[in-house]
Amino acid sequence: MAVTTVYGVIGSPVGHSLSPYMHNAAFNALGIDAAYYAFDVDKTQVGNAIRGALALGFGGLNVTFPLKKDALLYCNPDALSKRLGAVNTIDRNGEGYNTDGIGAVSALKEAGITVKGTTVLLLGAGGAAKAIAAQLLVAGARVLIANRTESRSLILARQMTEANVDCGCGDVEAHSLVEIDHLVNEARVLINATTVGMRGVLDGQTLVRAHQMHSGLVVFDVVYHPLETPLLREARSAGLQTIDGVKMLVHQGAASFALWTAKEPPVQIMEATVRERLLNVNSAENED
Ligand code: NAD
Repeated sequence: MAVTTVYGVIGSPVGHSLSPYMHNAAFNALGIDAAYYAFDVDKTQVGNAIRGALALGFGGLNVTFPLKKDALLYCNPDALSKRLGAVNTIDRNGEGYNTDGIGAVSALKEAGITVKGTTVLLLGAGGAAKAIAAQLLVAGARVLIANRTESRSLILARQMTEANVDCGCGDVEAHSLVEIDHLVNEARVLINATTVGMRGVLDGQTLVRAHQMHSGLVVFDVVYHPLETPLLREARSAGLQTIDGVKMLVHQGAASFALWTAKEPPVQIMEATVRERLLNVNSAENED
């Protein structure tokens, strides 16, 4: 009898995760006998959960908030995830990876942006910003990091500079949000990697308004709940090209899927599934 291969995401809370929908749709589309589940794992149990999954023959794991850092200790992290201090993907052999930044850069490429040599203004200096900055630099971008607390921008820029000494990739600069007007003017791409605009956290807020944007600017918000954040609404009202957080989510998931299966991920099916699910979630919330 064929044995269904199990995959999963570990985190806490994890009930809202879109990954089971996205990956199960991908397995179905490719006729792969596999099932992907969400597992709520307490921080104290990360090691047991990862070791247990590997011992049970899981095909792979995703790791999400707040376990990405702790999970490093229980896998064999690659150079990038070690540098980021966080893994979001583990394969059946216990190799650890971080595909978050790859997701963002793939979303930019899909939108027709040539990343090499492009000036990108990255808002935030948390986990998402760090992963995105590292991958933008590998792709040769000039990255302007602007964070509410400038010292955190400086720390992130320094970490990135040290890591990039030998690779001859893009440049990185640290700034504060106070300089936002002239930073937006310099940028070809603006990425929000803060929690500003996220439903239930900083609802309805944006760090940049339409009148601060210029024609030719591409605006990308990694926040995907709501799908159209206040920042993206401002950009749309200014007639600018926008990229929403679903694109990053889907491309990071597609990169994990490719690592696990060595197959071309059905990206369009994964994206359609996530968008449909988010629409259902949004309409259920609006009915409340
Ligand atoms: P984090 O807590 O590590 O970092 C949060 C960042 O937001 C920090 O830089 C902080 O300074 C900034 N911030 C918070 N409140 C602010 C305010 N009022 N003004 C200015 N800056 C403020 O979080 P994270 O893990 O980096 O996640 C950030 C966002 O990215 C979340 O909304 C998360 O859901 C989203 N995300 C999306 C994807 C995706 O695939 N689309 C992946 C990872 C994270």
